[in-house]
Amino acid sequence: MADKRDYYDVLGVAKTASEDEIKRAYRKVAKKYHPDMNPGDKEAEEKFKEAAEAYEVLSDPDKRQKYDQFGHAAFEQGGGPGGGFGGFDFNGDMGDIFGDFFGDIFGGGRRQQRNGPRQGASLRASVRITFDEAIRGTEKELNIALKETCKTCGGNGAKPGTSPESCPKCGGTGQVVYTQQSMFGTVRNVQTCPDCHGSGQFIRNKCSDCSGTGYVKVRKNIKVSIPAGIDNGQSVRIREKGEPGINGGPRGDLLVNVNVSRHPKFQRQEYDIYSTEAISFTQAALGATIKIDTVDGPEEYTIKPGTQTDTKIHLRNKGVPTLRNNKVRGSHHITLVVQVPEHMTEEQKEALRAFQAAMGETPGGKTEKKGFFNSKKKK
Ligand SMILES: [Zn+2]
Ligand SMILES: [Zn+2]
Repeated sequence: MADKRDYYDVLGVAKTASEDEIKRAYRKVAKKYHPDMNPGDKEAEEKFKEAAEAYEVLSDPDKRQKYDQFGHAAFEQGGGPGGGFGGFDFNGDMGDIFGDFFGDIFGGGRRQQRNGPRQGASLRASVRITFDEAIRGTEKELNIALKETCKTCGGNGAKPGTSPESCPKCGGTGQVVYTQQSMFGTVRNVQTCPDCHGSGQFIRNKCSDCSGTGYVKVRKNIKVSIPAGIDNGQSVRIREKGEPGINGGPRGDLLVNVNVSRHPKFQRQEYDIYSTEAISFTQAALGATIKIDTVDGPEEYTIKPGTQTDTKIHLRNKGVPTLRNNKVRGSHHITLVVQVPEHMTEEQKEALRAFQAAMGETPGGKTEKKGFFNSKKKK
């Protein structure tokens, strides 16, 4: 760094050069010596760095003035080792140059695509429905804040009477290119412009109604048709009720996540429903016509005499309607549970003892314990 070339010489401009002349001169030199154009060429790389350093100083009126006054000495202390080019902070101020520069070389198609119409992002919401509503399908109304184009500024975010300007940082491309020197050479890093967040626009006078965003939030009631058969955690897509589109593209979609509340009696698995039904000891023994709860209401069902506990009943097409075709439904699986009476009157107990005797059963079981039941045994 001992014998640094004069920055004006590096860029090949006069000491009186205008900002524009310096910019143009730098682009010319940078293009010529850019590492991408001269792979592996050490000398070109050095020249490229040198030009970047010169431009860094001469493009900044403050730094340029200091340089004019003190020469290289003006910057020998501030930079410190390790930062960018020979101690210079290679900051984003170079972005505009590189933006144009790479735009020229690689631009075209990619940039056009970026500015083409794009669909807006999806918006998410959720709704809670009952188990029965999920079986039958339902309609809900959601109140959602949707972004709408601001009417005051027509969506460009600028105060009426003014208009957005090209972002000075990225030159309107929405991207900045950072180059860094590493052990392996120059690393080029393309990032979304931090100033304009990729819009390529700079709004000097912001529209007061939308604070320069171009959008206002408007609460809207949106009807959501929830189809029969929907399950907990599934979503319903409502087309074009999401975020506004970009560059005239369609709005994004609204995705409504459906939460289905649990049912006290029915459990669901896919399109099948599971439940248990209690039957009495005598119904199980003698057989009976019982009522089974289904999602369509109670159903009569005849159980055979001698039905055991844990007997399974399958009712076909009584489950959940399938989303694809509501006529096709899953099954309802019922498990019968024989209930042993817990509290009985003396009369009921007597009747059971009579039953026991009729079955030829010894009270107390096979071990033939001698209890007080024996004395009460009847014929
Ligand atoms: Zn506005
Ligand atoms: Zn920008």
